Amino acid sequence: MAHIVVIGAGLGGLPTAYELRHLLPRQHQVTVISNAPTFTFTPSLPWVAFGSIPLESIQVKLKPRLTARNIEWVEAKVEKLDPDRQLIWAGETEIAYDYLVVAPGPELALDALPGLGPETGYTQSVCNPHHAQMAKVAWKEFLQHPGALVVGAVPGASCFGPAYEFALLADYQLRQLGLRDRVPITFVTPEPYAGHLGIGGMANSAQLITELMAERNIEVMDNTAIATIEPNQIHLADGRTLPFAYSMLLPPFRGPRFLRETTGLTALKGFMPTLPTYQHPNYPSIYSVGVIVQLQPPEKTPLPVGVPKTGQMTEAMGMAVAHNIAIEVGAISARLVTPTLEAICFADFGNTGILFLADPVLPDPILGKRHRSIAIRGTWVGWMKKAFEQYFLMKMRFGTAVPWFERLGLHIVGLSLVEPLSVKQDYNLNQLIH
Ligand SMILES: Cc1cc2nc3c(=O)[nH]c(=O)nc-3n(C[C@H](O)[C@H](O)[C@H](O)COP(=O)(O)OP(=O)(O)OC[C@H]3O[C@@H](n4cnc5c(N)ncnc54)[C@H](O)[C@@H]3O)c2cc1C
Repeated sequence: MAHIVVIGAGLGGLPTAYELRHLLPRQHQVTVISNAPTFTFTPSLPWVAFGSIPLESIQVKLKPRLTARNIEWVEAKVEKLDPDRQLIWAGETEIAYDYLVVAPGPELALDALPGLGPETGYTQSVCNPHHAQMAKVAWKEFLQHPGALVVGAVPGASCFGPAYEFALLADYQLRQLGLRDRVPITFVTPEPYAGHLGIGGMANSAQLITELMAERNIEVMDNTAIATIEPNQIHLADGRTLPFAYSMLLPPFRGPRFLRETTGLTALKGFMPTLPTYQHPNYPSIYSVGVIVQLQPPEKTPLPVGVPKTGQMTEAMGMAVAHNIAIEVGAISARLVTPTLEAICFADFGNTGILFLADPVLPDPILGKRHRSIAIRGTWVGWMKKAFEQYFLMKMRFGTAVPWFERLGLHIVGLSLVEPLSVKQDYNLNQLIH
């Protein structure tokens, strides 16, 4: 019997646990450890911040769902990992594992700049449920006393989509409330140009986003570094200042402390290096999924920006990891796979939105090209995002990761979540691990 422990029950951890349970016979134990009692559909957090939906509507209680599916549930924060002895410590409990799936999402590096973040600083964030709730309270107060709004990301950030969503949704709501003329909106980003998104842009993303921002009268300051933040004032690295009454700035992400403090485990910023199977190069019993995975930026930028790891990339990593672990424990006989890192993303801007399709998200490192990339603007994008949110939540309630009809749907649009390792990758892997 093997014991597989999954750390984190977000977009990466929960589908991975469901897929493991689906693939592994009952004698193998699957345990999920998470510091939150619920799964949250993170992509909808900007809607929570604007009071458009209640937080609870995008959450699923974990304990009943997991225990009903023969998955052990531990609600605790993992604080320590000993990869040599294959032990983790969650609260007071010591847990031994045969295989570990690390999917704790990001730690927010709010100490990157003085004054950043809602707890110890002066800016809002929508990166986790608690922050989205704080952003909502602050937004309600802001609507009573409107003033300058500054939205964007700070140097080192990697997740730019939600910043664009926030700026454009704010514009949309302010127009609906008749307050837009009292709120100048500025978008500040370290991206070399708007729509770069940490991946060198895709298709006409830069053009579509630039047009949208101009249409909505949002001033864009790209390639711009925020240096410090004081109450109601943002200081830029070039000496300029931006006054604000409300600001939402996305911070850089890094790996959680328990990973960063484990010697020999993490790469730059505490992210996990992986082989094509998403195993750790030095500890093959450890697999990683989601934001925690170290990915190489496709190009050097004047200001530091990271690579985004989107929901579909995360899900693909989880499916690859579950499949590869099932092979390792002898539950299935198949070829090892790697995630394709292709993605469809819906960005909602109120009365319009943009659908991004990237195949794959990161361009070929040598040719600098993707097989395919599409960015389409349309009023229907917000509805698609809502429909996808509901579909994903339903899957998490029913304990299914990626059902056959979803795989078929992706296949029809020419996408897949995973692909078999090439003969060369397989050979290199054998050399590395054995
Ligand atoms: C505001 C926002 C909007 C986004 N919008 C989109 C979008 O529109 N489309 C898209 O494709 N992607 C979007 N993304 C990206 C997407 O949300 C991520 O790809 C995805 O959430 C990553 O999954 P994850 O499992 O790595 O992390 P998460 O989903 O964050 O899950 C991490 C889990 O680990 C738990 N955890 C953390 N630390 C510990 C610990 N020490 N011990 C135990 N448990 C722990 C957390 O409580 C959480 O349950 C968005 C991201 C953000 C922040």
